[in-house]
Amino acid sequence: LIAELINQQKPLSEWPKHLFAVNDNIQQTGLLLASAITPGQGLTTTFTRGITQTLAEIDLSGLRGRGGAGFKTALKWRFCSEEPETERYVVCNADEGEPGTFKDRVLLNSYAEQVFEGMTIAAAIIGAKQGFLYLRGEYLFLYEKLLALLEQRRQAGLLGQNILGQGITFDIEICLGAGAYICGEESALIESLEGKMGIPRNRPPYPVSSGYLGKPTIVNNVETYLAAAAIAVNGGAWFANLGTEKSKGTKILSISGDCKRPGIYEVPFGITVQAVLDLCGADDVFGVQIGGPSGMFISNQELHRKLAFEDLATGGSFIIFDNSRELLAIVKNFTHFFAHESCGFCTPCRVGTSLLQKQLDKIVDGHGSAGDVVALEELCRLIKQYSHCGLGQTAANPILTTLERYPEIYQAQLKQISYEPGFDLDAALA
Ligand code: NAD
Ligand code: SF4
Repeated sequence: LIAELINQQKPLSEWPKHLFAVNDNIQQTGLLLASAITPGQGLTTTFTRGITQTLAEIDLSGLRGRGGAGFKTALKWRFCSEEPETERYVVCNADEGEPGTFKDRVLLNSYAEQVFEGMTIAAAIIGAKQGFLYLRGEYLFLYEKLLALLEQRRQAGLLGQNILGQGITFDIEICLGAGAYICGEESALIESLEGKMGIPRNRPPYPVSSGYLGKPTIVNNVETYLAAAAIAVNGGAWFANLGTEKSKGTKILSISGDCKRPGIYEVPFGITVQAVLDLCGADDVFGVQIGGPSGMFISNQELHRKLAFEDLATGGSFIIFDNSRELLAIVKNFTHFFAHESCGFCTPCRVGTSLLQKQLDKIVDGHGSAGDVVALEELCRLIKQYSHCGLGQTAANPILTTLERYPEIYQAQLKQISYEPGFDLDAALA
């Protein structure tokens, strides 16, 4: 229906209302969500405190990228600001495509003002005149609302020429993705912004030195800009007060699956998986997929583990599976997802993910042998090691992390073969 409406060029106001129905079930608590700032508050504080000192506060806060990888935000911004090329760009990665992740949708629906404020503070720090919000195509329903908000900010002197009379010029454009998961990878996103196919670039050079149009560019997640704006207002120590030594502050989670209260939760870093399960009302847990399919599946023996960059890093996806779920059906679903989303640029991923799904299907369908499981694992390691970008490097994680924890579930699917008396299968496989 949506494709049809786009083809007909129908204005959004004429779209059926049910296409806009979003029930986010937001848990509006937590450091960042409770400290929503008023329009301009982050910028005013930044200009009063001074740009260099604001970067020092972001450094002090220990803020690390909230997309999942956790690179230090202040360091990224400093690297960019120190580049000799003066034409620089700010990009907000809102191409939230990891299955099980929906926090950025909620943040842009309810806290976009603060996200734009964070982007503008970043622009003041690195000296950028242009910013882009790269919005996931499926979040089209947010588009007009966000455009209206940007216009309001221009009218209020918070965007455009001479922002708040400080001689700073900066504006934000919204670009829509077209449904490709790979465009959430920052260099593919930049290619897409430039109007090309979303194929990941070689890194280094990182976008801080060669990004949009080859110019210094910072790419950060929606939540990172939201946090930066709150830190600009409240100071670095306020944020660093929560979390762990290496993972300061809070993390916003998208919680889904087998629990009583799915939704968006803001939790301090260092919280155990069990504590999160208690918050959202999950019992009879079989396992949790942390960080989406590209992350890690942990078993119910590991619920004491902590959400933190030094233990379980996550961009926010937290999918709970209870004991009624079939593990191999989940793994199959995730493996097919990656094969479908592979951009096709490099052979290890293009061919590898396709072979991986065939090999896994063979085993899940009961036609596999012990040798097929060995071959499956070898294929996983090959794809992980030789793929060009993060998609291929993580595509085998659902298989590897479950095979390590539950080899017996894979073995139970194997074709029953009778061997000659005295035949030593293990010796033959070795
Ligand atoms: P990465 O560690 O290569 O880079 C992280 C960030 O730091 C990037 O912005 C990169 O440009 C920057 N960076 C790294 N080293 C740098 C250096 N030496 N100098 C300057 N900048 C540097 O990680 P990545 O491949 O960009 O991202 C992978 C992560 O994305 C995974 O951890 C995964 O959790 C996450 N992910 C998130 C989603 C989502 O929907 N939010 C989807 C898929 C994957
Ligand atoms: Fe494309 Fe996969 Fe290669 Fe990444 S690893 S460049 S997604 S084919």
